[in-house]
Amino acid sequence: MQENSIKKLVIVGGGTAGWMAASLLVKLMRGQLEIVLIESDDIGTVGVGEATIPPIQIFNNVLGLNEDEFVKATQGTFKLGIQFENWGAVGDKYMHAFGSIGRQIGMVPFQHYWLRAKEAGFAGDLWDFSFNYQAAKEDRFDRMRQIPNSPLEGITHAFHFDAGLYARYLRKGCELSGVNRIEGMITDVSLDSASGNIASVTLKDGQVVEGDFFIDCSGFRSLLLGQALGVGYTDWTGWLPCDRAVAVPAENGPRMRPYTQSIAHKAGWQWRIPLQHRAGNGHVFCSDHISEDEATQTLLDNLEGKPLADPRVIPFKTGRREKFWHKNCIAVGLSSGFLEPLESTSIHLIQTSIVRFVQMFPSLGLDATNIDEYNEQVGFEFESIRDFIILHYHATQRDDSAFWKRCRTMEIPESLKHKMDLFRETGRIFRFNNELFSEAGWLQVMLGQRVMPKAYHPMADGLSDKQLREYFTNLKTIISGTVPKLPKQVDFIAKHCAAAPM
Ligand SMILES: Cc1cc2nc3c(=O)[nH]c(=O)nc-3n(C[C@H](O)[C@H](O)[C@H](O)COP(=O)(O)OP(=O)(O)OC[C@H]3O[C@@H](n4cnc5c(N)ncnc54)[C@H](O)[C@@H]3O)c2cc1C
Repeated sequence: MQENSIKKLVIVGGGTAGWMAASLLVKLMRGQLEIVLIESDDIGTVGVGEATIPPIQIFNNVLGLNEDEFVKATQGTFKLGIQFENWGAVGDKYMHAFGSIGRQIGMVPFQHYWLRAKEAGFAGDLWDFSFNYQAAKEDRFDRMRQIPNSPLEGITHAFHFDAGLYARYLRKGCELSGVNRIEGMITDVSLDSASGNIASVTLKDGQVVEGDFFIDCSGFRSLLLGQALGVGYTDWTGWLPCDRAVAVPAENGPRMRPYTQSIAHKAGWQWRIPLQHRAGNGHVFCSDHISEDEATQTLLDNLEGKPLADPRVIPFKTGRREKFWHKNCIAVGLSSGFLEPLESTSIHLIQTSIVRFVQMFPSLGLDATNIDEYNEQVGFEFESIRDFIILHYHATQRDDSAFWKRCRTMEIPESLKHKMDLFRETGRIFRFNNELFSEAGWLQVMLGQRVMPKAYHPMADGLSDKQLREYFTNLKTIISGTVPKLPKQVDFIAKHCAAAPM
């Protein structure tokens, strides 16, 4: 048996990132690793982060969490997509619905048939072919992998939840599994003079905690990777100029929507996230174009229920660490970089960073090739998500404010330009290098943001008009016949996973 060079691992931070890291590591490496987590009640957590994407189900499954118990414990609701309002133009509305759209025929993706039918005038709306969208707009939800007696995918879901409660829920499991939690504020980080590795951290009360490896989950401070090891930050505000959010919890509105709302305003956008006990709300904005007071007022004017606390402003700088793993330390969560929550990707980045770390676990020591591979993979994931988010801002016809004019006319990364040009010219979309967002995701956002292709794949002409009409009618009939059979989300939750009132 090989000797594991990492015997003691120290996680700094007890936000979503810290407890997700601890949960996965203790689950997968119990007995092989001593895990210590240090968090400071005085500093607290960022206190936002409520919307997720479907792969979180995999994470929860690996941890062995029961979905109903998890939804109950976190005041959660189900999420089938994100509705974007006022993005392509004021008054526009579309959804990035999870799951597939229509069904590919042979090797030709569905959108080519839809584009052909659109040209011929009988396509209907693209979202008529999204089961998730059709269920979401009627506030319905059920667990259904496949539409019965059909080849069509069923519901693909993620969750809205209270991130603080999620961390608390994970913490309980971690402590039962042997993670040693230390409460206290770190005031000093010591490096080994020969290797430059982190040797220990010192707490305000004088306690010294040594470790073989450190995971920096200290939030925007980036206490270890950024501050102690001096890894720099690549700033992406040139492409994503929003630099603040104002957040406020409020009473829920009249509907329990199974989707996040993202409503564009004159210098940013607002989220509405329905939880069981309240709604999460926030306004992400660009301080070059709107003051904090005006941004706060815009948010308060657009709540569906009474605010439950004072609005809180959270400044941020969009970008990433130049490296995510340096010496004997990785950064996970906000300490590794930040992309605004437009597509709910931060918690996902926590998940994939920890999974990658487990896959590349340095049991044989700190191998430079292994570290480079990790940095390459995490960097690619950050950049592909960055491009997807820029698409929402750049592909717009809005010119009603200086902010939107700036976004519409800015230079964009070459990687995104290539994707948009390819789609515009040919209707083609390729998922590159296992990037996070699928062809269906890119398709919905491109069309939703009014990027319209000039052509479709010639193989889509292989069916006659009659055959294609029949195909479309069948798909729509299956979807529209199944949606009314799904329960309303509010009834589903009442039956399976209602949380105790808070
Ligand atoms: C406005 C906004 C909205 C967001 N919305 C979403 C969303 O909808 N979906 C999504 O996926 N993500 C979202 N995110 C991101 C999400 O909030 C974070 O990815 C997630 O909460 C993880 O945060 P964290 O654990 O890295 O940091 P934090 O929550 O800030 O935790 C940091 C931890 O480090 C500890 N710490 C710091 N310094 C010290 C010290 N000196 N000594 C000891 N302990 C210390 C703190 O006590 C705390 O426990 C959003 C972020 C923002 C800013």
